[in-house]
Amino acid sequence: MEKCFCGGKIEIQNVEYKLVRGKRTIIIKDVPAYVCQKCGAVYYDTEVLVRLLKIKISTNIFQQNSL
Ligand SMILES: [Zn+2]
Repeated sequence: MEKCFCGGKIEIQNVEYKLVRGKRTIIIKDVPAYVCQKCGAVYYDTEVLVRLLKIKISTNIFQQNSL
């Protein structure tokens, strides 16, 4: 993937991914993402998405245990 749908250039950047769990917001830092330099659209690798999904699941379990 080299270009965004808008035609802008995409570069790899480390971004902060915000995970909202009710009143809590978990910020995952240094998430590698493809960011469009023109419109700011963010794309993630499948591998990264899987990792984020695993974190989401683990935070769900953590919340259930703590309640
Ligand atoms: Zn774009």
